[in-house]
Amino acid sequence: MTALTIALSKGRIFDETLPLLGRAGIVPRDDPESSRRLVLATHRRDVRIVLVRATDVPTYVQYGAADLGVAGKDVLLEHGGDGLYQPLDLGIARCRMMVAVPAGFDYDSAIRHGARIKVATKYVEIAREHFAAKGMHVDLIKLYGSMELAPLMGLADAIVDLVGTGATLKANNLVAAEEIMPISARLIVNQAALKLEHARVQPLIEAFERGVEATGRASPRLSPPIGRPVAAASRALRGSGGRHLNGGLRRPRGAL
Ligand code: ATP
Ligand code: MG
Repeated sequence: MTALTIALSKGRIFDETLPLLGRAGIVPRDDPESSRRLVLATHRRDVRIVLVRATDVPTYVQYGAADLGVAGKDVLLEHGGDGLYQPLDLGIARCRMMVAVPAGFDYDSAIRHGARIKVATKYVEIAREHFAAKGMHVDLIKLYGSMELAPLMGLADAIVDLVGTGATLKANNLVAAEEIMPISARLIVNQAALKLEHARVQPLIEAFERGVEATGRASPRLSPPIGRPVAAASRALRGSGGRHLNGGLRRPRGAL
């Protein structure tokens, strides 16, 4: 029997997912902080954990290289959600997606006057959608990290970034100007694995669900998922004469 594979990222997602996995009897045999292993065996012989970058988790699950994974809503929105079933909001790794500006910058006035501001962010899809919904024209500047630096260096007027405690903003003389959305991490499942491995995957989803409910959340069940359903997305792409982004890639198990 091949092992079910769960993709996690090191750090807060791993740490906060562990107690939920524990409820399904899944306990890693190695501590990722002290071992350099990227594939962790667990005390359940039919389950293993792979450690990947947070932004790579949806990709591993989409292509079936992992059967399940845990990823932030931010990461899922940027990824698009293709090929992913998203049954549960786990309520972990909570933070907020915010627009932040230098302490002296009057963001509301800039909006009222229709100023075209420069916004630096790692989250270009979320930012694009947010400003489009507000009818604001902005110049988005894609960065891969340390967004807080961009306004200080004159690269941008504002940033779109995740804010936990707000300490990083404060340390860089920035203030939150607008909340875009609350963020938490979701369980994601490869759509083909959900069908072909249903007998093993479904009990895992249910164990996660009981674990989340035990922490006091009303209902972790999600609907609808992030992104467009695969069928609707490919219909839309066909309709516009577009080529599916994954058209040239083979999906090992996810081809629906
Ligand atoms: P790295 O920090 O190694 O560059 P990353 O930022 O992608 O990688 P993490 O910082 O571990 O990875 O964040 C993983 C997820 O945790 C994010 O995608 C987001 O959903 C959530 N997260 C990020 N920052 C915070 C925060 N300050 N507080 C709570 N949750 C956060
Ligand atoms: Mg980080």
